Amino acid sequence: MTWLPLSTRANRRLLTRRLRKRHIPAPIWFDIEKRDPLLAHFGHKERLKLRILASEILWRKTFSPVRGMVLTEAIKAYLATRIAIVIYALENPERSTALDWLRNWREVIVYPSAFSPHRRQITRLGGNPLGLVLHTDPVEQGETSYQGPLVINWQDARPQALRQIPGQVLIHEIAHKLDMLDGSSNGHPPLHASMDQQLWHDTFQAAYIHLNRRVKTGRKPGLNPYAATNSAEFFAVCSEYFFASPGRLHAIYPQVYKQLSLFYRQQPLAGIGGNKSPKGTYAESCE
Ligand SMILES: [Zn+2]
Repeated sequence: MTWLPLSTRANRRLLTRRLRKRHIPAPIWFDIEKRDPLLAHFGHKERLKLRILASEILWRKTFSPVRGMVLTEAIKAYLATRIAIVIYALENPERSTALDWLRNWREVIVYPSAFSPHRRQITRLGGNPLGLVLHTDPVEQGETSYQGPLVINWQDARPQALRQIPGQVLIHEIAHKLDMLDGSSNGHPPLHASMDQQLWHDTFQAAYIHLNRRVKTGRKPGLNPYAATNSAEFFAVCSEYFFASPGRLHAIYPQVYKQLSLFYRQQPLAGIGGNKSPKGTYAESCE
């Protein structure tokens, strides 16, 4: 799929009409632009597309607060924008607003802070990777399952400075959902036709083994050691770094960064400490 720049009047009129119909209100959107560091590298045109995508996500998905969480319109819009960042170059609202890459979930459940699911870890029968992906800590940051909702906590989903260790729980859980689109949670999402399946597998496997070796021998892993849990978590954690701290991911695992840039069809590193101006640093087309 190719993202067409808003080059024609017809396209621009279409998008403007859609934006008027069910858009994130301007004061909320401007506040998101100001607060979320991940938007810093999106230019004007890219932000228009992001706002449309985020508005569609708000329109089509349900955001449900639990355990006393106060879910304001501003928080919902912020969460929808984070999701839009991940699928920015996968979806094209000029052609379709069906949000096909988000087809396997409908709801985001938001806890105010880390939560305890009060249930035992599910054992996967026969090694079947299909099923719940739970963090093993008794207190969860987030969770998701093949057909279930995304469950996150606001404390770990709110905007954070890029210098902090990425705790980008929403990006993490969306990555799990993308991984599960082909029916299994194994760190190998459905790749684009132009991508090399074997190269993806070999690249991620080598990096995963390398990280595990470092964790087991007590050396500094460079990435959140939670990535060493299994291949699915490795993909989800690397996706967090790809969007929130791409320089670190590229420095440690450049080939993983490259594969993720092919999959997400974005080049977030190009706008961070690079020579390019922020405008247009995200790939507008890949194929
Ligand atoms: Zn996970």
